[in-house]
Amino acid sequence: MTALTIENLEKTYAGGFQALKGISLEVAPGDFFALLGPNGAGKSTTIGILCSLVRKTAGQVNVFGIDIDQDFSAAKREIGVVPQEFNFNQFENVLDIVVNQAGYYGLSRAVAHQRAEKYLTKLGLWDKRNQPSRNLSGGMKRRLMIARALVHEPRLLILDEPTAGVDIELRRSMWEFLREINAAGTTIILTTHYLEEAESLCRNIAIINHGEIVQKTSVKALLKQL
Ligand code: ADP
Ligand code: ADP
Repeated sequence: MTALTIENLEKTYAGGFQALKGISLEVAPGDFFALLGPNGAGKSTTIGILCSLVRKTAGQVNVFGIDIDQDFSAAKREIGVVPQEFNFNQFENVLDIVVNQAGYYGLSRAVAHQRAEKYLTKLGLWDKRNQPSRNLSGGMKRRLMIARALVHEPRLLILDEPTAGVDIELRRSMWEFLREINAAGTTIILTTHYLEEAESLCRNIAIINHGEIVQKTSVKALLKQL
């Protein structure tokens, strides 16, 4: 079974623009996978489809053996998504943001609290737990999004440009954290337009451009080729 299989995925937006022209991908359980491509390539569109923010035009998506068209809520339990843009309630405090997210997955209040404490601590946000999210710096908000995405302990973590606009120090500490999560068994897919990021973190890579996958390779093989 794969962690993610995408087959012939297409997206044509309402205006008629075809952002995805039939992409196919397979990501194995435990992989650290990069979807690498320039701005406008179709990365966020792909992520949007995986978390049902964007309706696909054609194709199949399967997450740990579950077809998202057959049982989206079961597929959703397997996935944690860290979007590119902050979408918090500005006035809600950090702890409530994470605990309430757990509620969407039917976790008990006690488990939700325990998980929130675990991930907020790991991400260096526990002492900010009573702050409204608007008081956090950009880097803290990004870490809060990761904690929120992990609270139901998904088997697949998907991050859309996780370190875009993040300073070098925070970028390194986020990389460390993601490596740790991956080593513990979570499959990770991230989108990036930095080759360096794909190179230093990921094992396998798909390069996307103009809505098409132009290359699938291991990072090792790609580096030999350069
Ligand atoms: P869907 O087909 O998934 O319902 P739409 O085509 O209706 O998506 O677009 C969703 C929203 O994104 C619309 O409000 C649209 O105005 C906006 N939008 C349009 N063009 C762009 C673009 N180039 N980049 C980002 N958002 C856009
Ligand atoms: P990336 O994440 O790789 O930068 P996107 O998936 O955001 O790329 O966008 C792919 C293409 O689809 C771009 O040309 C973008 O302008 C277009 N696009 C994205 N969202 C919309 C939308 N809602 N409506 C119309 N076009 C869109």
